[in-house]
Amino acid sequence: MIKIQRSPKPSILEKCADQWTRKLLAATTKKERGKAESKYRHEKIKDVLVNMFNGKCAYCESKITHIDYGHIEHFKPKGNPSYQALTFEWTNLLLSCAVCNGAEHKGTKFPSAADGGPFINPCDDQPGDHFDFIYDQTAKLATVIGKTTRGITTEILIGLNRNELRAQRTRRVQSLLVIKNYAQTDPEAAEILRQATLDDAEYAAFARSLIL
Ligand SMILES: [Zn+2]
Repeated sequence: MIKIQRSPKPSILEKCADQWTRKLLAATTKKERGKAESKYRHEKIKDVLVNMFNGKCAYCESKITHIDYGHIEHFKPKGNPSYQALTFEWTNLLLSCAVCNGAEHKGTKFPSAADGGPFINPCDDQPGDHFDFIYDQTAKLATVIGKTTRGITTEILIGLNRNELRAQRTRRVQSLLVIKNYAQTDPEAAEILRQATLDDAEYAAFARSLIL
């Protein structure tokens, strides 16, 4: 996870969020609620989020948009009645992959401070204050390690070290470590390493930790 600067609120939300929220809160049937709720999927909202997150998941930094549409993720889950009024709240919207956002991981969970939450939000928090991004040379694994209570809760509940994700991330880090050996003498290698640390690069938090 890396820090993301939130883009200005899309104009469609400036214009419609209040009205959409009133309709949603006034809905009395499941069908009405579903229809009212679905407005958040507006493509003008999605486009801004895809841009803002460089097509990557807010939580796990996997590139999404070359293989999937990505989910508009409600940080405070819209499925929880306490947060229904935040369905169209710009600061509550992120882009996430289907796995981080799925029921097995984040789903409708949103732990309170008493339960180790809230989750780390890449737009509001400094992820580096809450996680270490460590490549273990012995285990040969690139692991996200929570270093605060909220970081640990986020790492565990959102599954930031799930097997397939960690394996993919590990392959990326191992390639970068080889490239790093050449970076002192080969400008192309140095450039590849530099690009790996940019906001739009997959698993940039790990690449950044390698060049420190
Ligand atoms: Zn993800």
